[in-house]
Amino acid sequence: MDCYCVEPGKRIKLNDWDPQDKEFCPDGKDEGVRRLESLKQKLYDLQVRFFAENKRKLLVVLQGMDTAGKDGTIRNVFGGLDPQGIRVATFGKPSTRELKHDYLWRIHRQTPAKGQIGIFNRSHYEDVLAVRVRHLMPKSVWSKRFGHINDFERMLTDEGTTIIKIFLHISFEEQRERLLSRKNTPRKQWKLIPQDVEDRKLWPNYTEAYEDTLSQTSTRHAPWWVVPADRKWYRNLLVASLVCDALQKLDPQYPTPAYDISAIEI
Ligand code: AMP
Ligand code: MG
Repeated sequence: MDCYCVEPGKRIKLNDWDPQDKEFCPDGKDEGVRRLESLKQKLYDLQVRFFAENKRKLLVVLQGMDTAGKDGTIRNVFGGLDPQGIRVATFGKPSTRELKHDYLWRIHRQTPAKGQIGIFNRSHYEDVLAVRVRHLMPKSVWSKRFGHINDFERMLTDEGTTIIKIFLHISFEEQRERLLSRKNTPRKQWKLIPQDVEDRKLWPNYTEAYEDTLSQTSTRHAPWWVVPADRKWYRNLLVASLVCDALQKLDPQYPTPAYDISAIEI
């Protein structure tokens, strides 16, 4: 999967990354769905151990254009895990109270504790993306944030958090299909808001902002992964694989009992 990792220090162009790529599973959807099912079982076993170990933290950051599949990824990849060990934080427009603080204030409060897997549905990256593209702050303000963010993430990793940052990469055409489906499917209509159409008009600006962001904030301690996301099954498979790999590397262990278990009479 290394081909999907943004090399630290390298400038990327999203045009070079195919949203329909399926190199990791060339046999197609049926095979992908089968592999996802067995990965989810593995993920469950690893998460149970990670939670029991209660030592380290895992943070998965999900970013992407509207309709890229952040919600669907959370449901499909993490839906079967033990909710006690999962913490999902969704970041929408900051509230009046949040705006009174620095932009990392609301983020830091939601980072995972020991034994937890934290999932960020959008994140502090909106503060260099939406804020930049919608001109909510001048460049002199948002441009300094790449450095803050790298330092903040460095602090989190130094303190025992593994960070996986995922950009769900969809094409302009696929977004059109998904927005149309939201418009035309009653049970999806609640998700469609005028801002989505406004943001779609700004697609090139968002693309440029993402390219800068991925290039400047993919670091050894917290790399970015560009996940081809036009196909939902492939996106799910890749995200599950990334998280599974990270947990496998951490190799969480059940703690040794603090008592002499054989001496406990039941
Ligand atoms: P959704 O994910 O569809 O519920 O939409 C959430 C909206 O909140 C998106 O339009 C984001 O761009 C916006 N948003 C999230 N964080 C920020 C932020 N820090 N500043 C401005 N807009 C934000
Ligand atoms: Mg939306």
